Amino acid sequence: MKQNVALIGSGFSSLAAASYLAKAGYSVTIFEKNNTVGGRARQLKKEGFTFDIGPTWYWMPDVFERFFSDFNRKPSDYYELIKLAPAYSVYFGDNDYITIEDTLEKICVAFEAEEKGSSQQLKKFIAKAQSNYNIAIKDLVYRPGVSPLELITPVTIKKIGQFFSTISKEVRREFKNPRLVAILEFPVLFLGAKPSNTPAFYSFMNYADFGLGTFHPKNGMYSVINGMKALAESLGVIIKTNQNVTAINIDNEQATSIVVNGATVSADIILSGADYHHTETLLPKQYRQYSEAYWDRKIFAPSSLLFYVGFDKKIENVEHHTLFFDVDFDAHAYTIYDEPSWPENPLFYASFPSKTDESAAPRGKEAAIFLIPLAPGIEDTEAIRETYFEKIITRFEKLTNQPVRNFVIFKESFCIKDFVEAYNSYKGNAYGLANTLMQTAFLRPKIKSKKVKNLYFTGQLSVPGPGVPPSLISGKLAASLIEKHHS
Ligand SMILES: Cc1cc2nc3c(=O)[nH]c(=O)nc-3n(C[C@H](O)[C@H](O)[C@H](O)COP(=O)(O)OP(=O)(O)OC[C@H]3O[C@@H](n4cnc5c(N)ncnc54)[C@H](O)[C@@H]3O)c2cc1C
Repeated sequence: MKQNVALIGSGFSSLAAASYLAKAGYSVTIFEKNNTVGGRARQLKKEGFTFDIGPTWYWMPDVFERFFSDFNRKPSDYYELIKLAPAYSVYFGDNDYITIEDTLEKICVAFEAEEKGSSQQLKKFIAKAQSNYNIAIKDLVYRPGVSPLELITPVTIKKIGQFFSTISKEVRREFKNPRLVAILEFPVLFLGAKPSNTPAFYSFMNYADFGLGTFHPKNGMYSVINGMKALAESLGVIIKTNQNVTAINIDNEQATSIVVNGATVSADIILSGADYHHTETLLPKQYRQYSEAYWDRKIFAPSSLLFYVGFDKKIENVEHHTLFFDVDFDAHAYTIYDEPSWPENPLFYASFPSKTDESAAPRGKEAAIFLIPLAPGIEDTEAIRETYFEKIITRFEKLTNQPVRNFVIFKESFCIKDFVEAYNSYKGNAYGLANTLMQTAFLRPKIKSKKVKNLYFTGQLSVPGPGVPPSLISGKLAASLIEKHHS
């Protein structure tokens, strides 16, 4: 008889795991507390505008291809990808920005204009980053984080120095121009820690950025969620929304059932793609593996203050993705990682999906998403959110040399309180547990529970880490471990 798996949550990791498990012959039911699937990658639709609530950068297309090919499908069976050209731009002052084009050759030209001779350094740097990418993303991240031995291979031994140096040191050794340094340190911010606390080996993110490029799925990242949902359903997965799981029942180190909207639902195996910390709170205390002190000691990826804005005109002098690095990075990072507090002058990111995708906004109008990274767990009130909207809009108008404030049709915000309420996120983190040296692979919260025989975890707080591509991989790893122990 088929074993049945109760899967908590419907983010990228859960949807991925569900398809692998269904393909392997398990009977899978997803229980999602929200009214739509997708978790942090849900969608907001308002007055003819469409916004991705969470992820907007589609990087590492090979990981998505590999996922769909495991089911003899292709991403193009479900959604259309557009390569962004240019990929993005980075503002450093009023009318002062660098555009990152869509090929390394073109990016070399921009580097050379900033710092003579830097294109040679860049080519060397990206070649090393590519070699790391081939080791990490094509192999290491597909190991389940069960043992440290997984990381020891003839090729990683040769790169051992890069695990003990940092991205920050590596970039600064090769580049002097602070603007180029900021651009090269940007990709590892996706991993959730400061570049000075991220191993140099993670330069594979620079290859993802400059080597592979930035893509936009037509109709937004949510079309990837829709594709994965369709795939899962075609394999027999049952998806139930508005299903809040409030407990996992254990009998003699064995999970027997979950409590969903007050009713008990039995299961042979339980897999949770909800935030790891939250899932542990659903267990009786003696079955939790990690204490509150453990979670408190960990370095979390930032939370964020987000604004989804409908503008009544087209916005000029910006790209689909635009970064605003016109203020001191270190001062902002200090408020995220060292002394959790609101930054005086925040760096911010803005996305204008309607620059590429006409489905994102009515004709002649612009959809905009603004994001300020923040320390998880700090105070979040409407008044503070408003202050920060004013701060960044004032700067935005000056930097990009145009009035926009009076063209706001509506704005919606999303911040720490919403991350907690919507996703049961620990301290309102936006994208999980950071990838630092001490929080890599086998040093991360484990996929298989050490205390409950048939309980598993997947998602951005577990292995391999934050981001959409790692979440797809996490789902695959969790499904493989379940198959290994329960076939
Ligand atoms: C603002 C933002 C921007 C980002 N930008 C990017 C980007 O550009 N590119 C990129 O690659 N990544 C990005 N990320 C990261 C990426 O979105 C995440 O790593 C990924 O979506 C996490 O997926 P997940 O499956 O781990 O978890 P989630 O998406 O959080 O899914 C967990 C699910 O569990 C559900 N759940 C929780 N508790 C319960 C319960 N008790 N009962 C039932 N269901 C429950 C939640 O509702 C949720 O649907 C971003 C994230 C955020 C928040």
